[in-house]
Amino acid sequence: MKYKIKDQSTKFKYGLSNVEQLVEFLNNNADPAVAFVGRSNVGKSSLINAIYGSKTARVSNTPGRTREINVFEFEIISEDKATIQKCILFDLPGYGHAEVSKQMSKQWNELMNAFFGTLRPNCLIINIQDARHPAQDSDKEFLDYLNNFEISAVMALNKMDKLKTQKERAQLQKELPKLSKLYKHMRQFYFVSAETKKGCDELLFAITSFLLNLK
Ligand code: GDP
Repeated sequence: MKYKIKDQSTKFKYGLSNVEQLVEFLNNNADPAVAFVGRSNVGKSSLINAIYGSKTARVSNTPGRTREINVFEFEIISEDKATIQKCILFDLPGYGHAEVSKQMSKQWNELMNAFFGTLRPNCLIINIQDARHPAQDSDKEFLDYLNNFEISAVMALNKMDKLKTQKERAQLQKELPKLSKLYKHMRQFYFVSAETKKGCDELLFAITSFLLNLK
């Protein structure tokens, strides 16, 4: 059976920047969820738009500006329309931006502690990294931090269209064992390009399978 995101079903609900509001939302909402997170400028908004439709997340020219967790609702529908599942999409603020002030990174930490500390096991984390140079210091720090929590995560290596030669792609394949060591719960790696949409169907399949509890 094939599943897809129901057309026009993705709706922005809240921009949460307040810890109490976030915890209240998480405690009162049991729908299966997916959360996208990555280094600022890695193409998180572009990837969300590639999967959910062109105007879901804002593609920003000011990296690191969004300090909120953007919450969307969407529905997964089966080909025969017999299954419809309501789900949540979390667009998490990017990490690792050099110009973020101390005050802002404190706020980011508080928000993330509340998010990952309250999250239910029915949320899949998509950690987006840059296929050209994965495992930057801030990526490593983030995955190290994620090891504190019992959650399910996959990695999307984005901007694959920028790896032009076979040699560059082979180099990335060689990095995979190192990458999976960084986060012990990493389930799978996906090679994607938000620009060309290559690999996005496979990532979407992983998301829908998880959300429908098919694997
Ligand atoms: P965010 O800060 O992580 O949300 O990143 P954005 O989605 O705003 O993208 C940052 C920049 O990377 C933009 O100029 C995008 O056009 C570009 N970009 C994002 N994904 C891709 C991709 O797969 N390939 C290429 N070549 N550029 C991308």
